[in-house]
Amino acid sequence: MRIAFSLLVIISFIPGASAQPADKKYGSKLSKRPRNSVEITIEGDYRYVTSNGIPNHLTGRFPNRNNPNSISEQKLEFRMLAKPVAAKQITMIGMYPFGVALNGVPFEPAAAEFWKRDWRSGWQYEALSGKINLGLDSSNAHVQPTGMYHYHGMPEGLISKLGRRRKAILLGYAADGFQIYSQYCLTDPLVANSKIKKMGSSCRVKSGKRSDGSPGGKFDGTFLQDYEFVQGLGDLDLCNGHFGIVPNSPAGVYHYHITETYPFIPRFFLGTPDSSFMTRPQQTTAAAGNTESDQKVTPDISQPSPGTRRPPSLGRGPGRFPPRPPR
Ligand SMILES: [Zn+2]
Ligand SMILES: [Zn+2]
Repeated sequence: MRIAFSLLVIISFIPGASAQPADKKYGSKLSKRPRNSVEITIEGDYRYVTSNGIPNHLTGRFPNRNNPNSISEQKLEFRMLAKPVAAKQITMIGMYPFGVALNGVPFEPAAAEFWKRDWRSGWQYEALSGKINLGLDSSNAHVQPTGMYHYHGMPEGLISKLGRRRKAILLGYAADGFQIYSQYCLTDPLVANSKIKKMGSSCRVKSGKRSDGSPGGKFDGTFLQDYEFVQGLGDLDLCNGHFGIVPNSPAGVYHYHITETYPFIPRFFLGTPDSSFMTRPQQTTAAAGNTESDQKVTPDISQPSPGTRRPPSLGRGPGRFPPRPPR
C-alpha cells in the first residue's frame, strides 16, 4: 500500500506526464528528463533566447536505431535583432541553426550527410526527403551527439502545445530576428479578413537526370541539390517567407513560414544571421541520460564535420554574446 502511494507521488512529479498522447513514431520517454526552461527577453536592440534545450513536449525515444544520442540539458544562448531589417543580399544557411523555437529548441534543417561521405562531392542528403532515415520523431526532430534536440521540419509537438489551430502560429525567431510561423497564413497576406490557407513553398524537385560525376539517376529529392526554386510557384519567396499580416502585426511584417514540403525550414536569411547561432554550445555537466560512450559510438550524421562548416564570418571571438552584427 505504501509502495503504491509513493509510486503515485513519483508519477505525478514526472515532468510532462499529462494526458498528452505519446509520440506516434517511437513512444514517449519521460524518465530522467529535466524540465523545459526557456527565457526570452528584449534588451536594447536585441532579443535574447536562453534555454536548456529540453523540449516542452513529448518526443520520440532517443537513442533509437537511426539516432544513437540521448537528449540532455544544454546551455543555449541566442541573440537576434528585436527589429529585424533586410540585408543588401540574402544569406544562405550554413551548418548552423536557422532559428530557435519559443520553447528554446533550435531549428536546424541541414544534415551533414554527404554522398560518399564526402562534403566536397557537392551532394548533400536532405534530412526530410524520406530517402534516408535519421531517426526523426513525429516532431521531425532528433538529437546531436552533444545531446541537443533540434527540429528538421514542422515542430508538431510544439504546435500542439500552442493550440494546433488553423491559423498563423508564431513558433519562434530566425537568427536574423524575423519571426517564424507555422504553415498557415492569409490567402491574401495584405487582407486581414481573407481566408486562412496552408502556405506552399516555391521549391520543387527538378525534372530530369543528375549529371555525370554525381550520384546519377533521376532527381528525386534525396539530395538538397535535387531541388529548385521557381519564382511564383507557391506563396513564398526563396527565403520561404513573405510580407503580410500576422496576428501580432496588423500592419504587416516580413516573416518566415515552416512548410510541409521542401525547404521545410527556410535555408536563406533575408536579414543578417546573428553570430550567436554560429557556435556549438557545450552540454552541461548536469546532463542527464547521456554518457561519454553515447557520444563516441556513432556520430550523428546531422552533426557537421569540421570541413563543412561555414567560417563564422560575423564571429569576433568568444564571449557571452557576440558584438552587434554589421547592419
Ligand atoms: Zn505568412
Ligand atoms: Zn539533425
